[in-house]
This record gives sequence, C-alpha cells and structure tokens, in this order.
Amino acid sequence: LKKIDYPEPVRELIRQLRRMPAIGPRSAERIALWMIQSRDSRTVEISDAIVKASSIRTCSLCGFFCDDTSLCAICSSPDRERQLLCVVEQPTDILPLERTGAFRGLYHALGGKLSPLDHVSPEDLRIETLQARIKQEPPQELILALSADVEGEATAHYLVDLLTGTGTRMTRIAQGLSVGLGLENADELTITRAFSGRTPLH
Ligand SMILES: [Zn+2]
Repeated sequence: LKKIDYPEPVRELIRQLRRMPAIGPRSAERIALWMIQSRDSRTVEISDAIVKASSIRTCSLCGFFCDDTSLCAICSSPDRERQLLCVVEQPTDILPLERTGAFRGLYHALGGKLSPLDHVSPEDLRIETLQARIKQEPPQELILALSADVEGEATAHYLVDLLTGTGTRMTRIAQGLSVGLGLENADELTITRAFSGRTPLH
C-alpha cells in the first residue's frame, strides 16, 4: 500500500522552509500548512518580501547592507565623523554599535577574522579594500572592534603590523566583550563602555 503524504508542491515547500536557520521539521510543516490554508494576501506579501530582500547588496566601501545604490546609508551620510574608522568582523556587528549611538564615525567590515584552522587567511577578508580606503582617505583614528578570542587577537595583530607606518592612530575597544561572544550578542551598556574605554595599539 502506497504511503500517503502531502502533495508534491507542499512537500517541496516544507523542504525549502527546512533549509532556513532555526526551522526544524515540525516548524516547517506548520508554516507550510499555514501558508497553503491562509486565504488572504499574506503569503503573497511574504514571498514578495523575500524576493525584494534578496536583491540587497553589500556596500562597496564598508561591506554593510545596502539597497541598489553602491554606498550604504552610513557611508553616504554627510553627518558622520569621517576621520574615525571602526573595523568590525561582520556587517552584522555594525547595527549593535549603531543602536548604542556610541560611535558616529565610519565602519569597515572585514567579513570574518583570521583563522588558520578554518583556512581563513588575509586574502579571504576585506583587508586589501581597507588598505586602499586608508590610503585614499586616511582616518585620524582606526578603531579595532574585533572579538576578544584567539582569532580576533590574531586579526588585530595582523592589522597593526600591516598598517603601522600609515600615519593612522590605531586603537582597540576595551576588552569588555567576553571571550567567544561577538559584538552581535553584546548588550548596549557593554558596547558603550567598550567604546569609551578604547586603548591605543602600537
Ligand atoms: Zn558603507
């Protein structure tokens, strides 16, 4: 006897939903059933939003998210302190910093941190674009806001070695972020304190 399951389009919808982070088999099934049973425009609106959001690009300067323009809202803003440049690991590290209002300069997202074990070397990160940026528009201060783990430390050392001699003052945020916990998970007070207590490097 053939085992009865949902029709193929529903099974495909469940399969696709399961590819999303934090969606397990039960959740995928519940969402899929909700979608096929809802009789209003909500599912169309959701699928439209997915298509629209997938055209989001990364800023050619800092690596943050932007729409179809080449520069993000931060880089194109006339109100930022352009002489301060804050280096973070991921573009997702920028929003927690922005929410605190502790920093009004510009950012540069590396796209990760140096990690020989994971085969992440300098060429895999946006380090060349950082060098080019500094050369083109030298900031007064370059602030490293990297995580306080071994890889974050290695990345900081690499950048200090690389950029010493460019005339840019280099600092790092205070070590208020616990080991292994990136900026993304740090609370606002921690971030504000980390920023105001930054220390010189080199
Ligand atoms: Zn940008």
